[in-house]
Amino acid sequence: MSGATTPEPAPPACHICCDPTDAANSAVCNTCGERFHLRLRNDVDGKDCGEVWINEQFLALEFACLSCLGQTGSSVEAGEPRVGSEH
Ligand SMILES: [Zn+2]
Ligand SMILES: [Zn+2]
Repeated sequence: MSGATTPEPAPPACHICCDPTDAANSAVCNTCGERFHLRLRNDVDGKDCGEVWINEQFLALEFACLSCLGQTGSSVEAGEPRVGSEH
């Protein structure tokens, strides 16, 4: 109908596994600000590259990726080479 040729922005890649994500299966880490896979609904297939929990003090959802949780390298792609892209 309208806007038939609107270019779709590439989905942001998961900070943890580098696979593409979408709004339905990902969240943004509160610690590093990077997007990671998180199943927001139990009836949706997907994987979790982080965790979400409720902050009991602020009654707010908090998100953390596996990297910030310190759980990388144990079960998922151990030995992944680090790419020094920082300046
Ligand atoms: Zn992921
Ligand atoms: Zn993080």
